[in-house]
Amino acid sequence: MLHGKIALVTGSTSGIGHGIALELAKQGANIILNGFGEFEPAKAEVAALGVKVGYHGADMSKPAEIEAMITYANAEFGGVDILVNNAGIQHVAPIESFPPEKWDAIIAINLSAAFHAMRFAIPGMRAKNWGRVISIASAHGLVGSAQKVAYVAAKHGIVGMTKVVALETATTGITVNAICPGWVLTPLVQKQIDDRAVKEGIPVEQASRELLSEKEPSLQFTTPEQLGGLAVFLCSPAADNIRGVAWAADGGWTAQ
Ligand code: NAD
Repeated sequence: MLHGKIALVTGSTSGIGHGIALELAKQGANIILNGFGEFEPAKAEVAALGVKVGYHGADMSKPAEIEAMITYANAEFGGVDILVNNAGIQHVAPIESFPPEKWDAIIAINLSAAFHAMRFAIPGMRAKNWGRVISIASAHGLVGSAQKVAYVAAKHGIVGMTKVVALETATTGITVNAICPGWVLTPLVQKQIDDRAVKEGIPVEQASRELLSEKEPSLQFTTPEQLGGLAVFLCSPAADNIRGVAWAADGGWTAQ
């Protein structure tokens, strides 16, 4: 369905971004990966699906590097048709002891990066009159949780920014939407589970169950594959007129 389309997925060396890149590639999209750490395994996995795959190591907290990544996409792939704003980090602490540098980093990577990526990528989408922007917000883009001031602020910001850019592109073939996952078992969440197990002196499995039962009525993690499937749907013609939504995939978290 997506043969010939070019998808840039930020933060796709791990977790949700990796899962979304694979599902888009299964539909035939060429993929540009981004993110820290080892990227060769992810690149090989995508390449095995028979699509063209590239990698750019832009630090998403640095606007000049984001611009360089879009320039690379234009030069090497012919543009960005599908932009998945996914790179993100977390820090958990009450506001009084929340390190200001963590606030700055979370706002830069989880919020401002999507602004910069969109402003650099959308002109190319306008030229083709087709595009998809899918930003990975969170249930925390819709509701709050204690100790996550920067993350919740950034994710609410993503939801707001999604609405604005969807309105600005409403008469074009470009759609702009957000996906709001609940708990997904990735390194970002595993750290929170491990910290909880240590703090409460309980086994990791129990910490995992407690984490789910606090927020997620389904008591199940959402998977990167499921989120990839939702991204594929948002790229399909059936979603041509879905604009500015913040689509929960959270096991009922925000239905409460
Ligand atoms: P993860 O830690 O597994 O992956 C994060 C990715 O972002 C990695 O590839 C990492 O290298 C990359 N990254 C981090 N900082 C970067 C930077 N400065 N520049 C470029 N890349 C950078 O995390 P994940 O759980 O897969 O999270 C992906 C997104 O999904 C995040 O935006 C997160 O907020 C969101 N999310 C996660 C969950 C969850 O339960 N895991 C729930 C809702 C939303």
